[in-house]
Amino acid sequence: KAKVDGRGTFRFFEGEMDARMQARRAMEINIRKAMALKELELVYQPQVHLETNAVVGFEALLRWNNAERGVVSPADFIPLAEEIGLIVPIGDWVLRTACHEAASWSQPVSIAVNLSPVQFRNAKLIESVVSALASSGLDPGRLELEITEGALLENTERVLSVLNALRAIGVRISMDDFGTGYSSLSYLQKFPFDKIKIDQSFVRGNTDDSNAIVRAVAGLGASLGIRTTAEGVETVEQLNRIRAQGCHEVQGYFTGRPMAATAAASLLNATSSH
Ligand code: C2E
Ligand code: MG
Ligand code: MG
Ligand code: MG
Repeated sequence: KAKVDGRGTFRFFEGEMDARMQARRAMEINIRKAMALKELELVYQPQVHLETNAVVGFEALLRWNNAERGVVSPADFIPLAEEIGLIVPIGDWVLRTACHEAASWSQPVSIAVNLSPVQFRNAKLIESVVSALASSGLDPGRLELEITEGALLENTERVLSVLNALRAIGVRISMDDFGTGYSSLSYLQKFPFDKIKIDQSFVRGNTDDSNAIVRAVAGLGASLGIRTTAEGVETVEQLNRIRAQGCHEVQGYFTGRPMAATAAASLLNATSSH
């Protein structure tokens, strides 16, 4: 009797695994088709300077518009795309598209592009960046590459050589989601970052601790000569708070949601001085 139950349980579990594997397989097939079907899109979120209130840049954020699933968030498909190696061609498309779009803007503001740790480890990364810059004609100084701690876990020498090669091209490097991983302080010392993006969790926290952390990171940035951006600001109270805490820039729903490329271009037209 016990054996029958055990077997029944096992079968049930097996069936569930099958369903999950099938869903994953279907997702994989769909991601593979996404580029060919032109289902990928970039939206752009403004980055605002806290002293001048001017839009000084945009972050390109990936969206997948799938016929069956609707708009799929990057959090839901990038991990699988990384696992099956597709993040490399997708990331290449993101770089090219973002650089081309930014090159057409009426103001020379910066464009931030997220790099997956898998892309960062890929031998063709430098080639891909150089090629996106060359074909778009974008000034390399306008391109900011955002990396997370996951990219820095490798051998320090290799990480440094990639970062230095990128900086030699003239692009800037931002540390994204700062404070959410491990050993962040040692990374600031080891690696040449141009910007620290303070993670949303601290910005929206509004506890004594999260306020102390934002203030400390802003101070750290100021003394190390690294610009700081507060991510995920949703209210005027949060905006005033991070202003007082000494961050340079803000990016969040309060100052602008991610928007279509045409809307980003219009926003820049509307605020240009001529
Ligand atoms: P991230 O790079 O930290 O991007 C910021 C995320 O916070 C975006 O989510 C943005 O829409 C969201 N956000 C901005 N302001 C606010 C706010 O005020 N409130 C709230 N609740 N959220 C806000 P999104 O677009 O869903 O992207 C999630 C993550 O996916 C990104 O986090 C990034 O790690 C990754 N990602 C997005 N696009 C790409 C890409 O092209 N390549 C790679 N490798 N990763 C990407
Ligand atoms: Mg980012
Ligand atoms: Mg972030
Ligand atoms: Mg994030």
